[in-house]
Amino acid sequence: MKDQLIRITAADNQIRGFFIQHTQTVEKAREIHNLSPVASAALGRSMGAAVMMAQTLKSDNQKVTLRINGGGPIGTILCVAQKNGTVKGLVDDPLVETVNKTPGKMDVGAAVGTDGEITLIKDLGMKQPYIGTYALTTGEIAEDLTAYLMHSEQQPSSVGLSVLVDVDYHIKEAGGFIIQVLPEITEEALRLLEARLLGLPPLSQILEENTDAKALMEVVMEGLDPVITEELEPMFLCDCSRERMEQALISLGEKEIHDMIHEDGGAEITCHFCLSAYQFKREEMEALLKEATTKE
Ligand SMILES: [Zn+2]
Repeated sequence: MKDQLIRITAADNQIRGFFIQHTQTVEKAREIHNLSPVASAALGRSMGAAVMMAQTLKSDNQKVTLRINGGGPIGTILCVAQKNGTVKGLVDDPLVETVNKTPGKMDVGAAVGTDGEITLIKDLGMKQPYIGTYALTTGEIAEDLTAYLMHSEQQPSSVGLSVLVDVDYHIKEAGGFIIQVLPEITEEALRLLEARLLGLPPLSQILEENTDAKALMEVVMEGLDPVITEELEPMFLCDCSRERMEQALISLGEKEIHDMIHEDGGAEITCHFCLSAYQFKREEMEALLKEATTKE
């Protein structure tokens, strides 16, 4: 089944929401980075959050970068998502050991840690990006994003994120939601929404029973008159290219490039997000060296 991301309004435009089912996307990340189960859960939840947050941007070429570092053994989690649904992500230690809280329930918070921050950078195509940051509270990511949105963006939200990993480490289900209330919401609509959210079974259970984003949404928003306004297919897609790697090499400067030519006879640069390797031969490096020299 294709991954799916939908945007909705509900209760007469008093509520807006984003729902995602992105099992394939998380599986792709797992294959690229050889993620351990808890790393799949931490990165998968973060990628879901980033790609849903990217839906609040105005145009397709704008980006959201989500960075989480809680001082735990996984290190930094970094995701970059675009409004068109593409997302890329990495963690410092993809092989981080999986510890369970209870049998079958991974302790994502222990891998991520709570001594640090969640940072959201919105590149709106202007000179300065918008950067918001808030202290981590649980390292479980959904709770941290909820607190971030409340305190840093003054946006009351409910965030749910879940990744189910099979015994063979494949991703069984990955999905989630961000539900936000708009300022003019009536007491009645707010009460209905709160009651609905409080009465929900665990998200992992809903995902097991409802394997697409629309079905997930219908369960969560039951009784709140949801209307789907947008639908797209999220996917793991890296935007690295040979041209970008050339620019990165040039920016290292004359001396670095010179040393690479003389010590290694060329260079190999690997993209941290998708692990694609780009080889540069001696002649190509010499051309880049010329460019770097004229720049300086
Ligand atoms: Zn790449």
